[in-house]
Amino acid sequence: MSTEGDYDCIVIGAGVQGSFTAYQLAKKKQRTLLLEQFVLPHTRGSSHGQTRIIRKAYDQDYYTVMMEECYRLWAQLEEEASVKLVRQTGLLVMGPENSSQYQAVKNTLQKNRVPMVILPPEEFSKHIPNVNLSEGDGALVDTTAGVLFADRALRAVQGQFLKLGGIIKDGQKVSDIKPGALVTVTASGGVYRAKNLVLTAGSWTNGMLSYIGLQLPLKVLKINVCYWKEKVPGSYHVQQRFPAFLQVECPEGKHHIYGLPSNEYPGLMKVCYHTGSETHPDMRDRQSDQSDIDILKRYLTRCFPGLDPEPAVVESCMYTVTPDEDFVLDCHPLHNNIVIGAGFSGHGFKFGPLIGKLLCELSLGEVPSYDLSPFRIRRFPEHLKPSL
Ligand SMILES: Cc1cc2nc3c(=O)[nH]c(=O)nc-3n(C[C@H](O)[C@H](O)[C@H](O)COP(=O)(O)OP(=O)(O)OC[C@H]3O[C@@H](n4cnc5c(N)ncnc54)[C@H](O)[C@@H]3O)c2cc1C
Repeated sequence: MSTEGDYDCIVIGAGVQGSFTAYQLAKKKQRTLLLEQFVLPHTRGSSHGQTRIIRKAYDQDYYTVMMEECYRLWAQLEEEASVKLVRQTGLLVMGPENSSQYQAVKNTLQKNRVPMVILPPEEFSKHIPNVNLSEGDGALVDTTAGVLFADRALRAVQGQFLKLGGIIKDGQKVSDIKPGALVTVTASGGVYRAKNLVLTAGSWTNGMLSYIGLQLPLKVLKINVCYWKEKVPGSYHVQQRFPAFLQVECPEGKHHIYGLPSNEYPGLMKVCYHTGSETHPDMRDRQSDQSDIDILKRYLTRCFPGLDPEPAVVESCMYTVTPDEDFVLDCHPLHNNIVIGAGFSGHGFKFGPLIGKLLCELSLGEVPSYDLSPFRIRRFPEHLKPSL
C-alpha cells in the first residue's frame, strides 16, 4: 500500500456536505483530497436522488436565518457551473391552526419577514386544487421555497472542486484514522496524511469516530422514498404550479409528511414520511418495515384524492438523526484539527453550501460566520467518553 503525498486537508465522504466542504477548502487554496468509499455517483448514502425541498419555513429562527445565505450560495454555484439547481415552486405548509408546530413555523416566517401567503380555509381549494385541507388545519405558502435538483447539484459542486485543483478518490473505503499534527488516514487504495481532517461520513459517522475515541448519539433510519401515480396526469405537476408541501401533525402519524410536485418521474408525485426504521448503513436493504407506507396510504386517501394510494415506485435513502434533530458541526473535543459534520437529520441538503463554508471555517481555525452553539458536540455530555 502506497503512502501518498501530504495534503492541507482530507475530507472523508463525498455526499453533499463533504463535497461542498472540499469545494470551499479548495476555494481557499487548500490542497484538498476528497475520499469516498463507493464509486461515484452512488445511491447508498443520503445525498442521491433527483430532488430535495429548499425552504425557509422552519420552526427555529436560526435555520430560517441561515437559509438566507444558502439561497445566495446556491445561486452562486448555479452561475459558476452554468447549471440550474433550484426551481421555485413555493412550499405549502398545513397543520392544525392551533398547534405549536404550525404556529412556530408561521411565527418564524413572519418574524423574519419571509414572503408568504396565508390561505384561509374558504379560499384554499381555489389556490390548491386536488388537496383536501383537514378540518381545523391552517395553510400557508412559503413562496421562497422550491425544489433542488440534488443529483445535478452534487455533480456541479464536485465538478467545480476538480476545476479548482481538488482531488477526488472514489472507491476508497477509509479503515483507520490516526490523529496527530499530521492526521494519517488509511483507505483501501493508500495511506494519506494531512494537516486537517473533515469527517462528513453521513450514516457511517460513528464507525469513523470509533477510530478517534468518540461516539455520537446518532440513529440511522432507512427512509422509503415513495412515488405515487396521478389519477389524471399533470394534476400535481410542477408546470401546473403545484407546490412542494409539508403536513405537520396529522392524525395518521406522529411525524411530518412531505411531498414534491410531480417532475422527475412523469406522472408520479414524491410523498414521504419524515422518519423510518433503524438500520445499519451497510444493511439498509434488509430493513423491510413498511409501517410508514401504510401511514402515507391513509393520509393520501384522505387528503390527496387525485393520487392512486398505492406507491408506484419505492426507493431507499437514509437519515442520520440526532436526538434534537439539530446538526453536529464542531471540532473533535481533543483534536482540534479534526472537524465533524454529521447528524443532518433528514433536512441537511438545502444547507449544503453553507455547511461546507462553516466546516471549512472550523477547519481553518477561523471564527464561524454563525453562532454554532446549537450544533456543538458538548450538548451530548453523556456521549463523550470518560477519556475526553
Ligand atoms: C429521502 C430523503 C429525503 C430528504 N429530503 C430532504 C429535503 O427535502 N431537504 C433537505 O434539505 N434535506 C433532505 N434530506 C436530507 C439530506 O439529503 C441529507 O441531510 C444529506 O444528504 C446528508 O448528506 P451527507 O453528506 O451528510 O451524507 P451522505 O450523502 O450519506 O454522504 C456521506 C458519504 O460518506 C461516505 N463514507 C462513509 N464512510 C466512508 C468511509 N469509511 N470511507 C470513505 N467514504 C465513506 C459515504 O459513502 C457517503 O457517500 C433528505 C434525505 C433523505 C434520505
